[in-house]
Parts: sequence; C-alpha cells; structure tokens
Amino acid sequence: MEFTLSEQAEQFRSEIKRILREVGTAEVIDRQHQTGTFNSLEVNRALAASGLLERACPGLGRGDPIELWILFNELDKSGVGYDGISVALLAAGVINHVGSDLQKQTVIPSILSGETLVSLGYSEPDHGSDVASITTRAVRDGDEWVIDGAKMWTSLAHEAQWILLLTRTDPDVPKHKGLTMFLLPMDTPGISIEPVRTMGSERTNATFYDNVRVGSECVLGEVNGGWRTMGVALAFERGVMGGTASGVSLVRHFHHWARGTGLLDEPIVRERLARIAIDNVVASLLTQKAAWIAASGGLPGLEGSMVKVFATEAYQKAAAWCQQMAGPAGLLHFHEPGAAAEGYVDYDARHAPVTTIYGGTSEVNRNNIAERHLGFPKAR
Ligand SMILES: Cc1cc2nc3c(=O)[nH]c(=O)nc-3n(C[C@H](O)[C@H](O)[C@H](O)COP(=O)(O)OP(=O)(O)OC[C@H]3O[C@@H](n4cnc5c(N)ncnc54)[C@H](O)[C@@H]3O)c2cc1C
Repeated sequence: MEFTLSEQAEQFRSEIKRILREVGTAEVIDRQHQTGTFNSLEVNRALAASGLLERACPGLGRGDPIELWILFNELDKSGVGYDGISVALLAAGVINHVGSDLQKQTVIPSILSGETLVSLGYSEPDHGSDVASITTRAVRDGDEWVIDGAKMWTSLAHEAQWILLLTRTDPDVPKHKGLTMFLLPMDTPGISIEPVRTMGSERTNATFYDNVRVGSECVLGEVNGGWRTMGVALAFERGVMGGTASGVSLVRHFHHWARGTGLLDEPIVRERLARIAIDNVVASLLTQKAAWIAASGGLPGLEGSMVKVFATEAYQKAAAWCQQMAGPAGLLHFHEPGAAAEGYVDYDARHAPVTTIYGGTSEVNRNNIAERHLGFPKAR
C-alpha cells in the first residue's frame, strides 16, 4: 500500500494550509467560539476562489479523490470552524446524486462559490435516531406542497440560504416509504427559527414550519423516496466531511502546554499522549477510505459508520484524559488566566460528547455496522 500523496494532492494541501494561515486567523477562530456559529464566510470564499471547494465536493471533484479527505483534515487541524461549508458540500453531493437539473444548475454553483449554506432539517423534538417516524407533514395542494411541523437541532439554519427538509407525505404506508425530502429556500414565508445553545458552545436551532407553501420543483429526489435521499446524505455526513481528526489538534495543544508546565515529564502523560496519537492515525486511515469512496462517486454507508464510531469515541476518551491530566486548569475556559492549553482542554472536553451524537449516535452506527457488515438481524 502506497500512502504517499501525489504531487498534485500535496499542492492541494499546501494551498489549503496557505489560505487557512492567511484567512483563518486567531480572530476568526475566537469569533466562532464566542458566537457558537462554526462557519467563516471569509474562509469559505477564499477556498472557493482558489477552486478548492469544487475539487473536494463528493462526486463532483475532478482532481485526486483523496482531496476530499485532505480538505477536511486540514480544516479539522486548523481549529477553524467549518460546519457550514461541510454541510453545504454534503448537500451539493446529494443534489448531484438525486437532484433535478434545475436544482443542480441553481444550487450547486452557489455552494461551490462559498456564498451559500444549507442546513439539515431531519430531527424533530420527539424523533432523532428513529428519524423515519418524523411527523412534519407535506400535503399536496394543486401544484404546491403545504408544509407544517417543527424540527429540532437545525444547525446553521440561522446562516443558511437553503434547507434539506425531511417530511411525511404519505401517513398510510410503512413509515420509511411515506417520506419526501424537500430542498427549499430558508426565506420561504412561514419558516421561523429559535436559537438553542449547547454545552459544547455550538449554537444550533429549533425551526418551525407554519403553512409553508412551495412548488414541486422543491422536491429533492422522488416523492415518497425521502428515505433514499436521506441515505445518500447520511453516507456523506458520517465520517467523510470532517469531524474525525479533532484529536489531532487536541494532542498538539495539550502537548505544547504540558511541555511548558513540565507535566510532560510524567511517564503516564507521555503514554497517554502516545495512545491518543495512535488512535488519531487509525482514525485518519479509516477516514481516507470513506472519503475516497465518496469522492469517487460511491456511497460509504458502512465505512462512514465505522470511522464515525471509532474517531468520535477516541476523541471523547482523549478529551477526558487530557482534562483529567490537566487537573483544575483543565476546567478553565478560553481567556481565563491559567487555562490548560489556552482553554482548549476545557473546550474539547465539552465538545467531544456531541460528536458521538449528531449525524447518528454511536449506538445507531453500531447497529448499522452489525447489520451491514456482520449480517446481524435488523435492530428495528
Ligand atoms: C448539537 C447538535 C447538533 C445537531 N445538528 C443537527 C442538524 O443540523 N440537523 C438534524 O436534523 N439533526 C441534528 N442533530 C440531531 C442529532 O442527529 C440527534 O440528536 C441524534 O440523531 C440522536 O437523536 P435524539 O437526540 O432524538 O436521541 P434519541 O434518538 O432519543 O436517543 C437517545 C439514546 O437512545 C439510544 N438509541 C436510540 N435508538 C437506538 C437503537 N435503535 N439502538 C440502540 N440505541 C438507541 C441513542 O443512541 C441515545 O443514546 C443535532 C444534535 C445535536 C446535539
């Protein structure tokens, strides 16, 4: 197996690093932690202007397929929040797979220009893991659809121009068969947004849909084929578009701080950092496989679950270890004097748990692996 990157891929990586150094400044990162909105229009635009977003879009990239992994690996390590562009590129990949010509022509170019974001409206107050049970209704009325309901955890809805909205269009068939996905503009009358603050400092949202009227051109994929569209979206979301290298920046921040304080002289500290570094390498290799499949036009439904479970659980364990090793300094926030690793130890410990929840919990992904890989019977 040849792990060395091609010259073209190395150049792609260097260009991303240059942009992140120049545009992803400490101020940009600090603003994201203060606001809880992990998106930077400046960074998205700069990446787009150099053609880098297009090259890393699943199924659309014309370069080396490994570039999808490189983009998110560099974003992950830089500390620049990239949730916005990650979900937008994911949506571009879904539209490319199942969208109409009109959707492809209008939405994909604006995403690749770095100007447009898309949020994901699947989860509801009472339905997260069992998303096929959602109750938000879309009812046909002549040439239009009328949507009513409520969604929970609609991250980045306050910044996005579009939303992928999962609705129930036929309540009289088995639950997976009566769902339809819509791609609709966030400024459609009848949509409202309420902020939700989380332990990990991220701002997410509750969103409400009251007599929202849209045309049939907003259906993404087939009517009552929403489960398939959702499957494409989840295959790109899990383990492909970032979130699997958070342990790398954690270990770098902690190592730098522990060397300065003398903590690194403790054998147990060195051993744990070595274990975290090994997990980071395993996560990286698993991610490369899933990202390669997605970038080459495939759907890594199983591979993505495998890397998501491994990488996020390893990150959560690493963050807990670092906080434990740092002692009281590991409880201090950014900008508090004496905070371990300038506050990153506290931040990573608060942020890591949610990574094992969004995009499908570890339990749900384990079920997926058990069914698809090990041939176990369906969990439900
Ligand atoms: C910060 C944040 C951001 C998010 N962003 C978005 C977003 O942008 N868009 C969106 O649509 N959703 C988003 N989500 C929602 C996320 O996908 C759900 O929280 C997740 O799928 C779990 O659903 P739930 O919270 O309803 O928990 P539940 O489904 O109620 O699960 C509770 C517990 O039961 C376990 N469990 C459930 N079913 C099974 C099973 N079959 N087998 C074994 N164990 C099971 C779960 O693993 C979990 O431990 C976000 C969530 C958070 C916290």
